[in-house]
Amino acid sequence: MAIIRSNVAAAAGYVPGEQPMGGDVIKLNTNENPYSPSPRVMEAIRAVTAEQLRRYPSPSGEAFRKAAAGVHGVGADWILPFNGGDELLSVAIRAAAGETDAVAFLEPSYSLYPVLAEMNGSRKVVLSYEIEGVEWRLPRGVEEVKASVLLVVNPNAPSGHLDPVGRLMEIAERFKGLLVIDEAYVDFAPVNALEVVKRFSNVVILRTMSKGYSLAGLRFGYAIGQPTLLRELAKVRDSYPVDAVATAAATAGISDQAYARETWEKVKRERARLSGELQKMGFVMPESASNFLLATVPGGGGMTGRGVYEAMKSKGILIRWWDLPRISDKVRITVGTPEQNDRLIAELRRELATDRH
Ligand SMILES: *Cc1c(COP(=O)(O)O)cnc(C)c1O
Repeated sequence: MAIIRSNVAAAAGYVPGEQPMGGDVIKLNTNENPYSPSPRVMEAIRAVTAEQLRRYPSPSGEAFRKAAAGVHGVGADWILPFNGGDELLSVAIRAAAGETDAVAFLEPSYSLYPVLAEMNGSRKVVLSYEIEGVEWRLPRGVEEVKASVLLVVNPNAPSGHLDPVGRLMEIAERFKGLLVIDEAYVDFAPVNALEVVKRFSNVVILRTMSKGYSLAGLRFGYAIGQPTLLRELAKVRDSYPVDAVATAAATAGISDQAYARETWEKVKRERARLSGELQKMGFVMPESASNFLLATVPGGGGMTGRGVYEAMKSKGILIRWWDLPRISDKVRITVGTPEQNDRLIAELRRELATDRH
């Protein structure tokens, strides 16, 4: 279409995981927290007044900023809310990279990164994880990449593995552009990169309420960064990116740390159990610091990544599979509740016992 910019017309766009409407499906494909959000979130939504809806909301989500700042032990001006973490990714790229500039990211990682670079008309620089068996590592020399933006997700998606914070510190120190550390899954990890952002002004951390706080439907994420950087990013956001209802709900959610932490502990316990059961069946996977596992399908039985994905789908269990280099022999499984994981384990056992020869 001639009226559409050529970079947009040429792009395929982002392909999200399947979102079935209702039905009796076990959804282990898009890394949602399997537990309900804090009851205080629902109370906060019910308490929203007509007057709050009549008026424009706080443009900076002030109540949330204060609550998140308290949780992270930083000033409120170190927090900037977004309409989902994905909006922060888009804003970071638009703020730092022009049309002739490069956006660098790792592969395999979040498949939205190349899409956002394409929409911005920027060049893409694709760096490859070093993968040896189930060991994933950031390649040597990433910090030397010539790019305006470098996107690193840690813990990584889709592998779940964690790169050492010390490595991110080195990259932040050497890399010349804006380093985005995407910590969408950090609530399930033993460490985070807060110290990196405190030391370096060219770094922004992405956090989301979608995974750890069970609020994917709400669309609320935030940046942690030095105030001088966040002031620039704020200019690129929508005029009122976080609505009054979402701000009230997200504020209640992040304020109820005890509740959220309990769900993280339950997910981590199930992560260990599920990974043990999968390994007994012959799957192998990187150690996960996230709420999902990237499991390589056992060879020899005639089973493929696609085969496992389709077999589970036919049983009403959705997991994720990509027809992409280096990961097509793997499936990504979100850690569910004990009952959901039991169903998956039983169906996988049955499937692997089926003779395909
Ligand atoms: C979920 C996710 C995000 C942010 O998601 P939002 O729902 O937009 O907050 C960012 N990066 C990765 C890798 C994710 O998986």
